Amino acid sequence: MTRPSNTDNSRELTKEARYLDEVYNTVVTRNPNESEFHQAVALIFKSLLPILKKHPVYMEKGILEQLVEPERVITFRVPWMDDYGKVHVNRGFRVQFNSALGPYKGGLRFHPSVNVSIVKFLGLEQIIKNALTGQPIGGGKGGADFDPKGKSDNEIMRFCQSFMSELAKHIGPDTDIPAGDIGVGAKEIGYMFGQYKKMRGSFEAGVLTGKGIGYGGSLARKEATGYGLIYFVQEMLKDINLSINGSTVAVSGSGNVAIYAMEKAISLGAKVVACSDSNGFIYDENGLDLDTVKEIKEVNQDRIETYIDKHPSASYFEGCNGIWGIPCDVALPCATQNELDEASAKKLIENGVKAVAEGANMPSTPEAIELFIGNNISFGPAKAANAGGVAVSSLEMSQNSMRMSWSFEEVDAKLQQIMKNTYDACYAASEEFDVTGNLEIGSNIAGFKRVADAMVEQGLV
Ligand code: NDP
Repeated sequence: MTRPSNTDNSRELTKEARYLDEVYNTVVTRNPNESEFHQAVALIFKSLLPILKKHPVYMEKGILEQLVEPERVITFRVPWMDDYGKVHVNRGFRVQFNSALGPYKGGLRFHPSVNVSIVKFLGLEQIIKNALTGQPIGGGKGGADFDPKGKSDNEIMRFCQSFMSELAKHIGPDTDIPAGDIGVGAKEIGYMFGQYKKMRGSFEAGVLTGKGIGYGGSLARKEATGYGLIYFVQEMLKDINLSINGSTVAVSGSGNVAIYAMEKAISLGAKVVACSDSNGFIYDENGLDLDTVKEIKEVNQDRIETYIDKHPSASYFEGCNGIWGIPCDVALPCATQNELDEASAKKLIENGVKAVAEGANMPSTPEAIELFIGNNISFGPAKAANAGGVAVSSLEMSQNSMRMSWSFEEVDAKLQQIMKNTYDACYAASEEFDVTGNLEIGSNIAGFKRVADAMVEQGLV
């Protein structure tokens, strides 16, 4: 990882650059073996030099040292029994990272790769993302190294109940409000909500978001991250005099974010030619049929490979990276972290990509991001581009507090406005700090400033 202060061109390190390096080095020493967390810290720090120079108070008050140390990290045992009576033990996590702007808010991920580094990188990004939405929410994240794939419904239910038996001690509608992420959809949220309700003996709808519509969920939450991503892309394209209408789009993943990004893009006139799962990708130069993708992934929970059984004109390729070799105007990585590396970025650029927007969290490696920005490709970083999910989660909390529900159209209109505001905030920060159009720097600065100001105002707590 390069020095986070390396945006400073002067030969002598300024005191702000030294401060960034010192805090970063402490993070690495204090948290060994947490490479994803180091990467997330470095990516944010790389953008902060100009704002530290302009606002010395952040350095004086030790804001960075506090920002990178979670307020609380909870790790716990999750025992559960499979359908054959065998006991399994997984590890659960909740990182309550920063509550300067409101109660901790962020999803739960169930995936075998989940560990403290993954949860902390996601939690740190979440702080900045939540700030960018303008909503009153702090940052947190959690999950477990549990693999829902291949588990029966009853096994998933027992796991969720066991997970919540411990997590319930640490969350609440005014303290920490988890939601879904990879491997956690409305079904898992439902099982966890049921267990929480039973333990508390009261119906606290606002404790989880992403709930079923029938018991306090928000309309348009399911669609929010994917739709929000496309609303953000529309703003990006406007600034380079292009339109989503008529664009060719490649999307990695075929989960919640990917499917609703595809749906919105297609409805606005784009042609989506490729999507993937963790085994491989499908490609049809004439455009994919989204109903079939939904049937495979949402209804049958099958492999994306089976798409070609219904659509023999499409092709299936083993492996995930190859998807970035497909010519497209807009590339949307919507699967997982570090899925788009330097070689993939080179291929996209060679093939004439105009815009890359991150639906997943930290899907592009630092080298890939540098290539996009260095080649004037419009780049929408995750913490801004995929903020629609948490934004509508926050709207779900508002509806729960008011004991009412808004229509799909009302929520969608608010989502569009939030994504436009988010884009405008990133762009304005990029202009203010003389890197006009660099949304990577703009998003980090705009999100950081809101959190840092609140931390300064609240003093050491
Ligand atoms: P889902 O579990 O619904 O879908 C994940 C998708 O990514 C699946 O298609 C999965 O394939 C694929 N995938 C997982 N790992 C890999 C891999 N190593 N290589 C290629 N494909 C892979 O998750 P979501 O759609 O909810 O989340 C996707 C990303 O978006 C994550 O980074 C998440 O943190 C982020 N995000 C999600 C939000 C939300 O509201 N859901 C909000 C903001 C960000 P398979 O079917 O084979 O498992």
